[in-house]
Amino acid sequence: MMNEIRDAVLGGVSDPACFAALPVPESYAAVTVHADESDMFDGTPSADKDPRKSLHLDEVPTPEVGPGEALVAVMASAVNYNTVWSAIFEPVPTFAFLRRYGRRDPLARRHDRPYHVLGSDLSGVVLRVGPGVSAWKPGDRVVAHCLSVELERPEGHDDTMLDPEQRIWGFETNFGGLAELALVKANQLMPMPAHLTWEEAACSGLVNSTVYRQLVSRNGAAMKQGDTVLIWGASGGLGSYATQYALRGGATPVCVVSSPEKAELARRAGAELVIDRVAEGFAFWKDEHTPDVAEWRRFGGRIRELTGGDDPDIVFEHPGRDTFGASVFVARRGGTIVTCASTSGFQHSFDNRYLWMHLKRIVGTHFANYHEAWQANRLVARGHIHPTLSRSYHLEQTADAVHDVRRNAHQGKVGVLCLAPQEGLGVRDHETRRRHARAISLYRPGTTS
Ligand code: NAP
Repeated sequence: MMNEIRDAVLGGVSDPACFAALPVPESYAAVTVHADESDMFDGTPSADKDPRKSLHLDEVPTPEVGPGEALVAVMASAVNYNTVWSAIFEPVPTFAFLRRYGRRDPLARRHDRPYHVLGSDLSGVVLRVGPGVSAWKPGDRVVAHCLSVELERPEGHDDTMLDPEQRIWGFETNFGGLAELALVKANQLMPMPAHLTWEEAACSGLVNSTVYRQLVSRNGAAMKQGDTVLIWGASGGLGSYATQYALRGGATPVCVVSSPEKAELARRAGAELVIDRVAEGFAFWKDEHTPDVAEWRRFGGRIRELTGGDDPDIVFEHPGRDTFGASVFVARRGGTIVTCASTSGFQHSFDNRYLWMHLKRIVGTHFANYHEAWQANRLVARGHIHPTLSRSYHLEQTADAVHDVRRNAHQGKVGVLCLAPQEGLGVRDHETRRRHARAISLYRPGTTS
């Protein structure tokens, strides 16, 4: 049955009735972690927790489609860092999220299972929609963003990220995108950009939406033309999109990376000001407890040297503990440190004198609301922002892909082919693709300027 679905998609069938008539398999292949293995890394140092030990490829039952939901045939997905967190059971096993969600109502109870299907990105084709869904129909080619909300309470009706029942699909809910099928709320769906392949289209949803809110939206740093933006991890998932938003928005990115290859990539993306933090030996802690203020100063001096004297209006933060003190220090008087993560540790330390005396702001941000995600996807569809896919793996190799991201051996985004048998399929608008060919393949190894 799965082959029938795959063949219909690859054969270009677009008639909604044909898709609605395709039988839905009772089970499907999915990348999971298991609840009874949640303690497998107890006592193991964090750096030694290997996602390849905890991730499985299982055949799991297909969930029923509830009101307001859609079942999607997943052609491709992508690895996000949240899959790394799920796979190493840090900071807590994600089964705690599923159990809490399961207590909410009978429909949510479906999510509380002894396995967790991971993944917060997809591109694919709608197979079924539940009662009450009118915006999407079987056969629609879609990508999904990962915001799952209930919106039964007033708090979320200004900005849906403030809904008390806000969850990240495939991380705090089950039935994620690293699978042949996925269950989403229909208000997670967005049109698939027609000039992209399945795997290119699948890799933007989470990071692109996050960066749009973090950097561009009024809910984040509200970047404007002329701003100087310090971007940590500029060739990674978030950073590769942040660099594009800064450049396209008339700002000046200062890109921080950790190798000559990554520095070269940032330059190819159009950044002129690049700091290789490893080559230049930046280390912001003398030991586990003592920040190195001299290093903050040296880093600030290096930024001024590159910018001709400007301090960053915005610091795009996500490494967390290792860098946060330096980020607060180097932001300009009145500047904004906008943070969405703490990869290196979530207990941050900074000298508050540099914050209050210089009237800086720290802004916390998290994913994006539907409107922000839609705006971000529209920029991809229009060829203003491009996917930064560097490599794709097949579904059965997902654990290796996650391992690569875990050890920071990747660049840009890492894709996963689910029902798509190979890379390069799914493009409908070849003319737009031709116009942006170089930008789309920029993060592929072997691409030269
Ligand atoms: P990624 O693809 O691994 O990129 C992160 C980059 O950060 C790396 O390429 C690395 O670049 C840099 N980095 C890592 N550790 C660092 C350190 N100790 N000091 C300085 N730089 C460091 O991951 P991502 O997709 O961009 O995600 C980054 C973080 O954001 C993760 O923790 C993820 O869970 C989180 N996130 C949060 C949200 C949200 O909505 N809240 C959304 C997306 C991601 P170099 O080594 O080249 O410097």
